[in-house]
Amino acid sequence: MQNDPLSHGLWETTAPPAPPTSPLNGRIKADVAVVGCGYTGLSTALRLAEAGAKVVALEAVEIGFGAAGRNVGFVNAGMWVMPSEIPKALGAVYGERALTLLGGSPAAVWDTIEEHRIDCDPVRNGTLQCAVDAKGLAELEERARQWNARGAPVRVLSAAETAKRVGSYVYAGSLLDMRAGTIQPLSYARGLARAAIAAGASIHTHSPVSAAARAGGVWTLEAGGGTILSDWVAVTTDAYGGAPWPQGRREQILLPYFNFATRPLNADLQASILPGREGCWDTHRIMNYFRFDRDGRMVFGSPGALRGTGLAIHRAWAKRALSRIFPRIGAIEFESQWYGMIGMTDNALPRFHRLADNVVTFCGYNGRGIGTGTVFGRVLADHILGRIPEKDLPLPVTEPGAPLAPSLREAYYEAGAQIAHAAGAWL
Ligand SMILES: Cc1cc2nc3c(=O)[nH]c(=O)nc-3n(C[C@H](O)[C@H](O)[C@H](O)COP(=O)(O)OP(=O)(O)OC[C@H]3O[C@@H](n4cnc5c(N)ncnc54)[C@H](O)[C@@H]3O)c2cc1C
Repeated sequence: MQNDPLSHGLWETTAPPAPPTSPLNGRIKADVAVVGCGYTGLSTALRLAEAGAKVVALEAVEIGFGAAGRNVGFVNAGMWVMPSEIPKALGAVYGERALTLLGGSPAAVWDTIEEHRIDCDPVRNGTLQCAVDAKGLAELEERARQWNARGAPVRVLSAAETAKRVGSYVYAGSLLDMRAGTIQPLSYARGLARAAIAAGASIHTHSPVSAAARAGGVWTLEAGGGTILSDWVAVTTDAYGGAPWPQGRREQILLPYFNFATRPLNADLQASILPGREGCWDTHRIMNYFRFDRDGRMVFGSPGALRGTGLAIHRAWAKRALSRIFPRIGAIEFESQWYGMIGMTDNALPRFHRLADNVVTFCGYNGRGIGTGTVFGRVLADHILGRIPEKDLPLPVTEPGAPLAPSLREAYYEAGAQIAHAAGAWL
């Protein structure tokens, strides 16, 4: 997108085309304006349109331009933090609601894909979180215990079982989560957009919302060359947001994450590495993840931005790490590379804010946005439609927080990832 091969890489070259859209022009009235066309905005627009509301979704660049088109495509349940931490942080009532909703979010994604026949290479064979040492394995065992107590289909695999599934002997064991799986992330966003348009939503791309004002109970948004008048505004810009509602972006630390994709591996390697095509990540503090795409390319990712000295350092690291995990892989050639920003909140949990009268947002998914954006988009729509009162939302209404000197902390993470990868941490 925007002639930048480092923005969306493999996903852009293998996704079906986006539905035709055009920039906003003229003056349009709507019940709801949605700002941002990632998973949250598109899921909100789809739900609202299905309910018969007049909804106009505005995207600054293109559908899936933000994290939706750049991520690795793991459809995960829950959050990074242990399930037991969520009620502790949110209180028992909200904690249970959030856990139930997020634990079921992969099912919502699979149902959405099926219902709207979204062409996005879904693989529903689970994900494997792989333990790099005994401490990591103990954490996975505790996580499994907590999810099992809630009836979730997760189990710990031994080192031998893990080796068979992953095609590598480097792990001490793994956690198999059968609720989860993988998709082509940009294809999913484009498919959601297609479904929303088919349901009656309007989507305008290359239409950044630059100003907003409220008079007489009506919001006036300036976007690109046009104006929208609407009763409600759903702000769904998350870590890629800015004016006129930058609060959700500002309260997050942006952690850069890169992806490299190999050429398609030969049939022999494809049969011995991840024959079940699970998505994998490890318990290392500087986390690595990997998966196959539909054509047998291995996608590998870890923290870091592919700019400046980072490009060469992270490419070298990706090659060394892949060779270490899969010694049989041989010479590695990368066909594409890209990176994006993961928005992290201070307690690793998402947020719901009222930014102004009739302006609502969910943000801060901490790298878990496919399922979360899908279900939170529905909740946002149902709240606007009056179907879910504030007291029944899955998260409490909070004021946006502001971390101290976020740009400094972001620079710290970017530099830290380079230092760790250059030093060969974990090799
Ligand atoms: C490298 C990487 C790997 C990840 N891996 C995973 C994973 O495996 N699984 C998972 O579940 N999640 C993953 N995530 C996180 C996930 O991608 C995000 O949580 C998710 O995309 C957030 O969805 P969203 O719709 O809220 O925001 P986004 O997808 O970021 O969309 C926001 C949109 O708002 C638009 N916008 C911003 N400002 C304006 C404006 N003023 N006017 C109009 N439009 C505007 C942006 O252009 C953007 O398209 C990953 C993220 C990254 C970067």
